[in-house]
Amino acid sequence: MKTPRDPDLELRGQLIRSLSFLREMLPGSFVERQRACGQPTCHCADGKRLHRQYQISLLLDGKSQTLNIPAKWVDKVREKIEMRQRFEAAAATICRVNLKRFLQEKLHEKKKKLQEKEDRQI
Ligand SMILES: [Zn+2]
Repeated sequence: MKTPRDPDLELRGQLIRSLSFLREMLPGSFVERQRACGQPTCHCADGKRLHRQYQISLLLDGKSQTLNIPAKWVDKVREKIEMRQRFEAAAATICRVNLKRFLQEKLHEKKKKLQEKEDRQI
């Protein structure tokens, strides 16, 4: 006989399997800024046609830091930061499923003890 399907367990299994795809994740948030480079002859000197700059903003050893992202890595890094957000969402869902199961088991245990007590009194 097949065990009945538990949608929570199915979801948990699905999420666990998806985690390996997220192994390249990076911390922090993706930041896009515009800035002037400071060279008086550059097109950005007019203050309008600024350079785009991409950064990772994160906490490193408790300190807020920004790291510049080389232009050719921008898409890849953005994707890796999104992976971490997906990882955290998956972890939160897995924890919610497990907490629900923990509470159900506790309740079940309590009922079992009550039943045993009643059985002994008969
Ligand atoms: Zn410039």
